[in-house]
Amino acid sequence: MSREEFPTDDPAVVTCGLPYANGDLHIGHLRGYIGADAFDRALETLGQKTAYVCGSDMHGTPVAVNAEQEGVDPEAFALEWHEQYEETFPKFNVDFDNYGHTHDETNTELTREIVRTLDEAGYVYEKEIQVAYDPDADQYLPDRYVVGTCPYCGEKARGDECDEGCQRHLEPGEVEDPTSSITGNPAEYRERTHKFFEVSEFSDYLTEFLDGLEGTSNARNQPRQWIEDGLQDWCITRDMDWGIDYPGETEGEDDLVLYVWVDAPIEYIASSKQYSERVGADEYDWEEVWKDSNATGESGGEIVHFIGRDIIQHHTIFWPAMLEGADYNAPRAVAATGFITINGKGLSTSRNRAIWAEEYLNEGFHPDLLRYYLTTTGGLQQDVDFSWDAFQEKVNGELVGNVGNFLYRSTLFAYRNYEGTPDADVSEEVRERIQDAVEQFRAGVNDYSLRDVAGATTELAKFGNEYIQRNEPWNLVDDDPEEAEQVIRDCVQIAKAVAVLLEPIAPDKAQQVWEQLGEDGDVADALLEHALEAPPAEFDEPVELFDKIEDDRVEELNEKLAERVAAASDDQDADADDAEAGDDDDAASSDDGDAADAAAADLEALADERIGFEEFQDVDMRVGRIESAEGIEGADELVRLEVDIGVETRQIVAGLKQLHDVDALPGTKVVVLANLEKAELFGVESNGMVLAAGEQADLLTTHEDAAPGTKIK
Ligand SMILES: [Zn+2]
Repeated sequence: MSREEFPTDDPAVVTCGLPYANGDLHIGHLRGYIGADAFDRALETLGQKTAYVCGSDMHGTPVAVNAEQEGVDPEAFALEWHEQYEETFPKFNVDFDNYGHTHDETNTELTREIVRTLDEAGYVYEKEIQVAYDPDADQYLPDRYVVGTCPYCGEKARGDECDEGCQRHLEPGEVEDPTSSITGNPAEYRERTHKFFEVSEFSDYLTEFLDGLEGTSNARNQPRQWIEDGLQDWCITRDMDWGIDYPGETEGEDDLVLYVWVDAPIEYIASSKQYSERVGADEYDWEEVWKDSNATGESGGEIVHFIGRDIIQHHTIFWPAMLEGADYNAPRAVAATGFITINGKGLSTSRNRAIWAEEYLNEGFHPDLLRYYLTTTGGLQQDVDFSWDAFQEKVNGELVGNVGNFLYRSTLFAYRNYEGTPDADVSEEVRERIQDAVEQFRAGVNDYSLRDVAGATTELAKFGNEYIQRNEPWNLVDDDPEEAEQVIRDCVQIAKAVAVLLEPIAPDKAQQVWEQLGEDGDVADALLEHALEAPPAEFDEPVELFDKIEDDRVEELNEKLAERVAAASDDQDADADDAEAGDDDDAASSDDGDAADAAAADLEALADERIGFEEFQDVDMRVGRIESAEGIEGADELVRLEVDIGVETRQIVAGLKQLHDVDALPGTKVVVLANLEKAELFGVESNGMVLAAGEQADLLTTHEDAAPGTKIK
């Protein structure tokens, strides 16, 4: 089943995984919210009717545990964070059409209604299970109140998710060697009656659903394995006070509330409903988006979820099963973004290795610079590394040097010589080039590739710079004034197209260009076709759009970050136990960085056994150069490389997809183990191995000019 391309006649909804209302926002969060915001804006530029909705996740143990640590009521605690998020998101031009929260009446009512429907349809049953209990604290230990070992992969895990290992959702009672995160004591297991949602009944439906699902390949492929392994039913109740009571239960009687992952995704619907109620159903009808598909024979709305890649299972198994069971429409796409690392190491809030949202703004950087960095560094599903050096390089090179440079020089020339847009028609060459950019933008949206969406603009600006350079209008003004007018007319049109196409990624900066060109209104309302419509005849003297970031500024920022991380590490050493409960992650973009840290602190022991030099000589390692790289269909991690090793070019399969920008790999010098036995991975032969270090697959290379094929000894 393949869907009609965007824009379609059906209304869309774009959502982003809800942030737990339990701590400060950092760039790990922002990547998701900015990405989804840019996607929603790009849909609007295509002419798609759409709404971008979200809300704070108020419930669950991530909130309850943190509130308890501060000795405050979870509701007051969560509301305070919720209000802060409401203020912070707009500062990054993250423009939700509606931002609610899971504890509000709309979501509470809708959650009860959906659970009741699932119950009445026979998808919910009761079962006695073993639940972790802390006798000292005299309380049950749902989810994050308990830590232990993952039964699937053996890594350290939380009660409801294997956050440092295989990322699987864990059912109550599954985690091995349970320890209370309240007292640190071993937990007991006690028998309790809980409600289960029959996810296993939906295996066939979900297989079919995944066949039609769009978005990133990790979200489409990973769940297939889980289905093949056999789906487990989900326990949807928890022994705690904070949350939405199971419908029909007398409040307080049994302290059974719904599991946070029941009411959290329902907020996507509740928030759409609130938006509809505010603007009126004629403007935006939430039921048309979420409910009408089969009943009316129409395809229903275009539901697009942006999430962090740690919550794929929740959005591709549990959530669509709930929607299907309660007779709602299925999502069209799930786009699962990779994580953010800082200077090559995992982002870690407990170690203060993070760039906080407020901190970024306090440093005086424009939000659009971060939006550009986060949407164009790597593809959506890759992990993206942030460093102030890379940030500077991108801003100075791509925004100041390319986009800003083109816009300023062309509009300044137009202003000085013509006081605006010269009176001429756009040339055929430039018209076609702008049309290509428009097509690239459209294709980028349909491929869920923000990098391609942004690339449409930056490549067009690059063309603009070449065009002005090649035609030298400054030499034409006197000799051939008509030709000069033509060239500058073309450049002004390119500038306008840049404004229209840049808007989803950098809305303020695009608006500035728009106004610069004398245009009225909001560039956010402009459609693709406006890229080719003539700008007004007159405009004012332009100002430069972007400022260069100086080296000493970057140095200063690096020092600040290093000092902060060092200070936090000292604290941590002194007070090592509270890392677990104090560490938070969130629904949108997890900060699993402590895993990487743990690996660094916990290096593998050196091998006891020595080998002779002759044995080492049996290992044939060569300098190689990656000639081409492409992801392997169906494999989340694997990339097929063609590597030049001097004597020949080898096909090698490597697990680099999530950790590296695949498009940037060609040209990289690597070290290849050339005489490794051949292997076949996902049906692709791998003839050798590319050497890499650590969890982040840091590629080994040589630092001078050793040619491909040079033996390493
Ligand atoms: Zn695991």
